[in-house]
Amino acid sequence: MKQIKIIGAGLAGCEAALQFADNNWQVELYEMRPEKQTEAHQTANFAEVVCSNSLKSKLITTASGLLKAEMKLLGCKLLPIAEECSVPAGNALAVDRDVFAEKITAIIQDHPNINTHREEVTILNDELTIVATGPLTSKELTGALIEIIGEEHLYFFDAIAPIITAESIDEDIIYRKTRYDKGEADYLNCPFSKDEYYAFVDALNKAEKHEAHEFESKFFENINFNFYENCTPIEELARRGKDTLRYGVMKPVGLDDPRTGRWPYAVIQLRAENNDKTSYNLVGCQTMLKYGEQKKIFRLIPGMQKAEFVRFGSIHRNTYLNGPHILNDNLSLKNKLNVFIAGQLAGVEGYVESILAGLLVAKLLVEDIGKIDELLPNTTISGQLWKHMMTEQKNFQPMNANFGLLPPLEERIRDKKLRKQKYSERAIKDLRSSSIIKK
Ligand SMILES: Cc1cc2nc3c(=O)[nH]c(=O)nc-3n(C[C@H](O)[C@H](O)[C@H](O)COP(=O)(O)OP(=O)(O)OC[C@H]3O[C@@H](n4cnc5c(N)ncnc54)[C@H](O)[C@@H]3O)c2cc1C
Repeated sequence: MKQIKIIGAGLAGCEAALQFADNNWQVELYEMRPEKQTEAHQTANFAEVVCSNSLKSKLITTASGLLKAEMKLLGCKLLPIAEECSVPAGNALAVDRDVFAEKITAIIQDHPNINTHREEVTILNDELTIVATGPLTSKELTGALIEIIGEEHLYFFDAIAPIITAESIDEDIIYRKTRYDKGEADYLNCPFSKDEYYAFVDALNKAEKHEAHEFESKFFENINFNFYENCTPIEELARRGKDTLRYGVMKPVGLDDPRTGRWPYAVIQLRAENNDKTSYNLVGCQTMLKYGEQKKIFRLIPGMQKAEFVRFGSIHRNTYLNGPHILNDNLSLKNKLNVFIAGQLAGVEGYVESILAGLLVAKLLVEDIGKIDELLPNTTISGQLWKHMMTEQKNFQPMNANFGLLPPLEERIRDKKLRKQKYSERAIKDLRSSSIIKK
């Protein structure tokens, strides 16, 4: 019987474990929880979803829905369980997170071909191994990976924006408008005069930052603020130049202020956090400033003098590898061929995408496929996500399912809905007739 060691019983690790075990491989599955928790997980269950309970849309005409349909054709194990544990959420597949995780934990623990080990793995030896330890990979294992790949190929941080209550907003100043009046006016706009804008930038430049943990601060220095570009903290953008913000996240174009009839000098937009619009997210204001500083500085925003914060901005770890530089085209490490990477660590983003990465690595090994991208059509989301993890690109970042990944259709279709439908029809047809399904 062939054997595999899987490190991490999260979404990718559980999917991979079931794929191997159902194909008669002996699986040794290692999970460090509950002995050692991550910053986000709260239970001892396998496959715990850490934040939202939504696995996004079920509609085949959305990229996420198409990805799910493709994964079902590929024989995904976790998605049917998610469906069994679903809760009403319109067109989205949302799960009761406890029921979902408990069910998967039970299936894995009862599987005759899976041995589970509740312990942290800190070294990578010469066994055939899949590392599926996710964005919150433990510090020791991160160190072991760095020794193999070099620290310049490991990325770490992500920042989130503050949220404020709707009732604390001054509606005499802040106005609802969409840029150039296109589409629904979903955003609230905080208009800055020239003086207000430069005072805000100045305050950001002088503010004190949150102190990173000792281990993390080492990498702050070394990797030189390697954030996802669209999550760069606002104070880091302000540091790049006094006008960087007003030409970027704070650009005022097309947002005429009803009080003056003109575009303000700069604008911060607020986006509703919930359908009832009781709280708002400060768009583009992800930050790692100290909480006291955030309160002071964000209250300089016109209309937010009395802002009440529901959540402060913060920085959290989001570890992933620079796949195109360090991975072979079968997701094994170039410097350690017995070690394969799966899940978010390999360069995909999102629950379903992480499951996909676990599914494909397992399929590749179980079915002894040399190169998966030669079997998965490039018209599929799964084929493109697989390719993404290994394709050389400037500023490599984890990718989620989206139609922008797919090659254009042969015929040009203007109608957006119809175009998406055609993308989906093409992907499913190509996948059905591909050799990966026939195998
Ligand atoms: C804070 C946060 C919120 C997120 N919210 C969402 C969201 O709402 N929606 C979404 O689609 N995506 C979200 N993501 C992104 C991502 O899709 C999920 O984190 C997803 O769970 C990743 O799947 P994974 O299998 O790669 O890792 P995980 O599901 O995190 O699984 C990794 C497992 O490995 C274990 N582990 C770590 N180190 C070791 C070790 N050394 N030895 C043994 N076990 C170890 C961990 O305990 C964990 O159980 C979020 C990510 C983060 C960090």
